[in-house]
Amino acid sequence: MLGQPGSANEIVDLAPGEMFVHRNVANLAPPQDANYLSVLQFAVDVIKVKHVIVVGHYGCGGIAAAVDGKRRGLVDHWLYPIREVAGEQQSRTRRHRRSPQAQWTGYAS
Ligand SMILES: [Zn+2]
Repeated sequence: MLGQPGSANEIVDLAPGEMFVHRNVANLAPPQDANYLSVLQFAVDVIKVKHVIVVGHYGCGGIAAAVDGKRRGLVDHWLYPIREVAGEQQSRTRRHRRSPQAQWTGYAS
């Protein structure tokens, strides 16, 4: 699959079973997601995980799908927060490029 990182165990050089892993499309951790929150709570409270690592990766297909403007169905709802942040960033960049100070410093070129 495009943009699919290697297994978590390979990345940190641990044997299978030494790591409790939760993954989802585009590596999101929204505060209203009961699945991710349950996994985190279970890991910390029940199986006593001591270290939590949050990892992203280059070339993420989920991020690309969120910002390419195409519609894909239900996953669009999941990817909405990314699209929203990307839209805000584009607006900020456009405002910055139009500002006289940005042109003077050469950022608008
Ligand atoms: Zn990804």
